[in-house]
Amino acid sequence: MLVGVPKEIKNNEFRVGLTPAAVREYVARGHRVLVETGAGDGIGAGDEAYVAAGAAIASQAAEVFALADMVVKVKEPQPSEWAQLHEGQILFTYLHLAPDPDQARGLMASGVTAVAYETVTDAQGGLPLLAPMSEVAGRLSIQAAATALQKPNGGRGILLGGVPGVAPARVAVIGGGVVGLHAARMAAGLGAEVTILDRSIPRLRELDEIFAGRVRTRYSTIDALEEEVIAADAVIGAVLIPGATAPKLVTRAMLPKMKRGAVLVDVAIDQGGCFETSHATTHADPTYVEDGVIHYCVANMPGAVPLTSSHALNHATLPFGLALAGEGLAALARDPHLRAGLNIHRGRVAHRAVAEALGVSF
Ligand code: NAD
Repeated sequence: MLVGVPKEIKNNEFRVGLTPAAVREYVARGHRVLVETGAGDGIGAGDEAYVAAGAAIASQAAEVFALADMVVKVKEPQPSEWAQLHEGQILFTYLHLAPDPDQARGLMASGVTAVAYETVTDAQGGLPLLAPMSEVAGRLSIQAAATALQKPNGGRGILLGGVPGVAPARVAVIGGGVVGLHAARMAAGLGAEVTILDRSIPRLRELDEIFAGRVRTRYSTIDALEEEVIAADAVIGAVLIPGATAPKLVTRAMLPKMKRGAVLVDVAIDQGGCFETSHATTHADPTYVEDGVIHYCVANMPGAVPLTSSHALNHATLPFGLALAGEGLAALARDPHLRAGLNIHRGRVAHRAVAEALGVSF
């Protein structure tokens, strides 16, 4: 199969669909890979790295879209890209179609078969191609909190880990899923005093085992949540109710009771945010202050670390991409987890939940 990798064109997107290491895996299995010039610039992988891995370089995206049997990307295609996709071609990327009917129409009109990273499943009921980005966002959330807590950045001026003889900062992590686990691990690693709140008792049990006493776990009642938020120097919002907008767990009324210069990091902002006072921010201007509390609400946190994010994403997508390249559409019939990623096929929405969200027939 000829696998095509265009350069990402969405604003401020520096990740790349295939790293040179992933290209080498495709080439080793007899596939040809065509990479648009400069596609890897954002992760410091120049054209020469792709050539060394066995790829050919295209001078323009149009060449990639015209020739590729499968296009591998990171972000959903932009309108200029829908127009270049065509029938008989596979598109493998993040799509997030449910809130985006224009894109859905564009992809249906193109005739492409679109497999979305975010709906591919695994045997444990997880979303294996979303998890690596949650890992990145969880770990990054603590770096964001640590930075915002510094006095010159408007914070309380507390060091997360303290020093011998001086107490560390308190970090409350609301939601102990993938983001929450990785946030807690980073915060605890830096020496902070960490509490994870969750509504799932089995999950609290797992976290208790994992951290073996190094992190406290609490069942997330309104009482417990209020207590932890008020006592915290940094709060990480990491809840997810699949398919729903995030519940507003930290209310505006709690803010005046919090410490001045404390930090709220709302990782769940891509699902609407779990703090009442959150609104989405960008890497260019990531924080704002409400009631003396700093808010960090960047919706695409992994975009700040495209090098780590691209490699993590590629490791997760590689086996599925290789299956699609090796077997074509037959891979979808063989693997129900990959089949769960199928969103658009033969001009129709091919995923029940996506079709329901868009109000179209399935
Ligand atoms: P997850 O499903 O692994 O974990 C969510 C956890 O929240 C679960 O353990 C669940 O029990 C818990 N939860 C649900 N309701 C709760 C409540 N009322 N109180 C306490 N806990 C509750 O999800 P995840 O992968 O960790 O993702 C968390 C959020 O981070 C999602 O909204 C995801 O979209 C978002 N995210 C954002 C970025 C970004 O760049 N901003 C990147 C990756 C993920």
